[in-house]
Amino acid sequence: MKKKKLKTKSFKLIGSFLVILLGIMMISRIKWTKENIDRIEYSNEAITIMKEKNIYDEITKKEYSKTVEKMLESGKFDSKYVDEYSKINLQEKENFEDSINTFLNKNYTPEEINNIFEYLNDTNQNKLKEMDHIDLKDYIKISNLEVDKIERYENYRIEKNTNIQDAVTKVNIGLDLEFYSEIETIKDPTSYTVLLNKYRGLPENYVPEDLTPLSINNNYKLRAKAAEAYEQLQSAALLDNVKFFPFSAYRTKEYQTELYTKYVARDGKNAADTYSARPRHSEHELGLAVDIRSDGLNDNLTEEHYKWMLNNAYKYGFIVRYAKGTTPITGYIEEPWHLRYLGIEVATDVHNKGITFDEYYDLYLKNNEK
Ligand SMILES: [Zn+2]
Repeated sequence: MKKKKLKTKSFKLIGSFLVILLGIMMISRIKWTKENIDRIEYSNEAITIMKEKNIYDEITKKEYSKTVEKMLESGKFDSKYVDEYSKINLQEKENFEDSINTFLNKNYTPEEINNIFEYLNDTNQNKLKEMDHIDLKDYIKISNLEVDKIERYENYRIEKNTNIQDAVTKVNIGLDLEFYSEIETIKDPTSYTVLLNKYRGLPENYVPEDLTPLSINNNYKLRAKAAEAYEQLQSAALLDNVKFFPFSAYRTKEYQTELYTKYVARDGKNAADTYSARPRHSEHELGLAVDIRSDGLNDNLTEEHYKWMLNNAYKYGFIVRYAKGTTPITGYIEEPWHLRYLGIEVATDVHNKGITFDEYYDLYLKNNEK
């Protein structure tokens, strides 16, 4: 009996040993097979080219790379970049193969190239292809980055002792240049959220098509939507006992010219520029701005009315465009009386973010319109 038990025990031991051995063999077999699969994951077409170029061994000893395969298949494979290709993530993009060759030829590292594809929009990518290599490290994740302005950003950042994000936005607005020194003509002046300032002007012949008189005084006109919003603003204000009157709304180019010329003659150009827009740069020429005053005598808004506007105008689609503290960005003195129509959605967002429309436009709108 005892002997038999011992025999069974040994059998069991040998049995377990065999099972473990078999297990190890199976695992190594799977591993061995996987290595082979990795090697032959390349398409036949890619393998043929590898062999033609005598780089089959070099490539297949590395991990499989979709980018390497794509470069081989497209005929754009440059043997000197075998290492680099294998570190670049494949992108489903038109001209991807040419793009990475261009960047590699400009000495961008695979890591930089991956970042370029991940963070930069097409406009920036295309600009980059036309430029010498630049170090994008601190700028790559800035959403409103324009790669051709990096030198200006750096100069501004150092001069003003500010951070990168602030430098990017301010330089994009144009603030490192003299007002009116470099003017971009707006492409779509009919947009309700178009930005007009001392760097951006209207096309010579633009006249809004849907000017509508305000009910309180039909000498004053705004574009239809803005006029309708103005009526709502006025009614809402009245409920809070805030009564105001328009004293300027849409202006023709000729009238803006007349005004500006008069102010220059009176106060000189430098002074006039601080409170009057040059022709084609006034929001009044858009039919989207209205100046309001608290009584019929002074072209101004009382402090109380100004505060009401700051807290409420956005609900009807308006912002106080040249609010207190905005002069360094807008280049205009405070104008509590000047309301700009943007539509409720954008006006609310500008209000909530508490920034000027110039900054808002650069950060959130410019990539959607021009
Ligand atoms: Zn105004």
